[in-house]
Amino acid sequence: MSEQHPKSAKPDDICPRPDKPVNLTTQPLASAIYPTSVWICNEPAETDRMLGGEADGYVYQRDKHPNADALAEKVRLLHHAECATITSSGMAALSAAALSVLAPGDHVVLSNQLYGKTSLLFAQELTRLGIMCTAVDTCDHDATRDAMRDTTKLLVAETIANPCLQVADIATLANIAHESGAKLLVDNTFATPVLCRPLDLGADLVMESVSKMMNGHSDVMLGALCGGQSSWGRVPVVTSAWGLASSPFDAWLALRGLATMHLRMDRACETSAAVASFLAEQSPVQHVDYPGLSQHPQYELATKQFGGRYGSIVTFRLAGGRAAADAFITASEAIPFCPSLGEASTTLSHPETTSHRAKSPTEREALGIGGGTIRLSIGLESAEFVIKALKESLSAI
Ligand SMILES: *Cc1c(COP(=O)(O)O)cnc(C)c1O
Repeated sequence: MSEQHPKSAKPDDICPRPDKPVNLTTQPLASAIYPTSVWICNEPAETDRMLGGEADGYVYQRDKHPNADALAEKVRLLHHAECATITSSGMAALSAAALSVLAPGDHVVLSNQLYGKTSLLFAQELTRLGIMCTAVDTCDHDATRDAMRDTTKLLVAETIANPCLQVADIATLANIAHESGAKLLVDNTFATPVLCRPLDLGADLVMESVSKMMNGHSDVMLGALCGGQSSWGRVPVVTSAWGLASSPFDAWLALRGLATMHLRMDRACETSAAVASFLAEQSPVQHVDYPGLSQHPQYELATKQFGGRYGSIVTFRLAGGRAAADAFITASEAIPFCPSLGEASTTLSHPETTSHRAKSPTEREALGIGGGTIRLSIGLESAEFVIKALKESLSAI
């Protein structure tokens, strides 16, 4: 029943008033978005307990909101984790992990094959706070063990590394970290929980850039961090105090994307395998990196760790170097040059001028990246469509 208003009610006293709560007898199948920055609290003692984390409930969006909680719960289940949180981006999830675990004087061992901004976060930003780091090839387990120090608190690797797709042996890296009393943080963005659950293999913390394949529609910027209770410690306070929290609308969109993640991954993995085999036979292509090709250095590990699927990214190197890459990319109308990954459509990136532009040519060459290196993110089109598009671009070289 609508409430009766006195005839004298002015717009001033109607429009700005809080909306009446919706009293639901049936529940919506699609979830609601709660953009509210603040909640109407019942009384101070309960609010005090909610803010202290002793009682459930929402007070202020930066601390906690229902859309992030709904997404976090699905990500928690996907990763078999005790705890999960959603952050404003993948970088915010990495920052939350680093700022929770590390203090001045601590040391980090980093894979030398990381997403460019992750290397920058540790090597340039966290060093300003007195945190030291050493980059090593984490596929070389002796070198990784040698890099660990008494002060090492964190070992960081990517399940499938950017851009040349080296596969991390997560169980072995977890042992190396734990032997030194450190934690293993795994960036699982290229694998997604469809291929790999690093916590099951011994990792302490796992992060995902939800902006990529998990959301899968290139319209959201979000991250996720998961871990066991014993690794969680400061994560909630760090996320709130450093302002790393997510927006309700993005969390809502990402839940919608997540509903089809497993189907999108199935399709993209299947097409990627066909594309990798196709590229390996083309004369302008000097080399193909794909963990599903038997010549890949970690093919057996990938097969064991990912159960027969190898991801949606295929990286290849054109024999003609930068000039060939320029010709290929300019001709590539059907596959746009978008320096990201995990979209519904197939896209490509050029690591030399995008993700790895801060490295010197010698450093890039050591990582297997040249001017002719192109990274494909395989989307949801048919394999025939993608292969035809690649054929056309290759013929332009
Ligand atoms: C994109 C990406 C990130 C950073 O995530 P954002 O959501 O862009 O902040 C971290 N790691 C990997 C492997 C990525 O691809």
